[in-house]
Amino acid sequence: MRVYSSFKDIVKLVDKTDSIGLVPTMGSLHDGHLSIIKKALIKDDMVIVSIYVNPKQFNDPVDLKKYPRNLEDDLDKLKIFNKIIVYAPNDRDVYNGKEEVKRYNFGKITEIMEGRLRPGHFDGVATIVEKLLYMFKPNNAYFGEKDFQQLLLIKELARKIKLDVNIIGCETIRERDGLAMSSRNKFLNKSERKSASQIIKLLERAKKTYNTSSPKSIKSDILKHANSIDNLKIEYFEIIDVSEFFKDKKEIRAFIACKIGNTRLIDNIRI
Ligand code: AMP
Repeated sequence: MRVYSSFKDIVKLVDKTDSIGLVPTMGSLHDGHLSIIKKALIKDDMVIVSIYVNPKQFNDPVDLKKYPRNLEDDLDKLKIFNKIIVYAPNDRDVYNGKEEVKRYNFGKITEIMEGRLRPGHFDGVATIVEKLLYMFKPNNAYFGEKDFQQLLLIKELARKIKLDVNIIGCETIRERDGLAMSSRNKFLNKSERKSASQIIKLLERAKKTYNTSSPKSIKSDILKHANSIDNLKIEYFEIIDVSEFFKDKKEIRAFIACKIGNTRLIDNIRI
């Protein structure tokens, strides 16, 4: 593993004949991140893992301030990978002064769910991802299905900016009880953690009834059930036909966002 804080130093290392993989993260790494890196290492000769808490994608300054950061722990977890390059920059290396967030128009993908509840969030995500793609010009860039709406948006971004990069989705890695791994899980106290394990149960309940009930009645059943879970407040529950956004991607997914105490969690599954 080699660690750099300046992208110019990494660019010098990038051999034109190598196949380059990019794994963007905001650090506070867990097994979900590590599984993406393992997948990238199978396909690519050189894998760049970025660790950067991108301020431009936080619509809530309090959330940005309390987002967990621990570079030392992260590097410790990455030690097992010989072949990776870690890019851990400061704000100046990425944004070079007072750069503004870019305004995109991705249409409906960014108007529903996360896009509706977190104004500006996806513009901030697209701004940093576009930047990283131009910096390192990877052959492949890897993103988790845990943030499925983000994955769709990045596929659309790559199509729009016409960079020759494959955007590769990676399966969601879960705790033993089904809770999707997330950097934010560490904020949960014991009783909140217990409630959080019910998120996947709600999604699975929707999956079970999908063939026999209408999306509307599934939604009202899920909302009713969610109401009975301690500490849990639903922000949205949606069943989405992904082919509405990508014609070649024929799948239906259930999506959920909720607050458990003060911690906001999202998850989704294929149904
Ligand atoms: P983050 O550090 O939360 O911005 O996540 C960095 C990347 O890891 C994103 O592409 C996420 O979708 C992905 N990711 C986050 N959690 C998981 C998980 N539990 N399983 C797989 N990928 C994940």
